[in-house]
Amino acid sequence: MDANKFVDSLTAPPIRWDEVLCPYCGGEVVWTSNREIYGREYGNGRCYLCTECGACVGVHDNGKGKGSRRALGLLATPEMRKMKQKCHARFDAVWHTHKRSRAACYRQLAKLMGISVRQCHFGYFNLADLNRAYQIMAPFHWYEEKLKKVGA
Ligand SMILES: [Zn+2]
Repeated sequence: MDANKFVDSLTAPPIRWDEVLCPYCGGEVVWTSNREIYGREYGNGRCYLCTECGACVGVHDNGKGKGSRRALGLLATPEMRKMKQKCHARFDAVWHTHKRSRAACYRQLAKLMGISVRQCHFGYFNLADLNRAYQIMAPFHWYEEKLKKVGA
């Protein structure tokens, strides 16, 4: 879906996706049960879903275990969701093994991508930025600030 390249990464918390048309296909987006994606309700049970192309995104909890209207990020196509999982696999492998803290990993990734830490969420990235983040995290020691400075 080439329409991906026309969608910018988010630089601020997302709007309500049901108040705009799908950025990929122009279809109607609804706030609905995520049963429509997974076959059963999962997590807080809610998501935004494009009724035309199936792009979707989860939502934050409302604090009582239910889904709120606050989206987690950009409406994501299947290709974006796959790339997000691949990015998380590389990213999480670092802080899960306590090589660096999660916050330090986000700071380093933001620096390497040339964006602010506030913008540095995989859920905020469009397909191009997801691909870029994935490449940035390819070197085994991508998270080591000192090694990067020596090479710079
Ligand atoms: Zn759509």
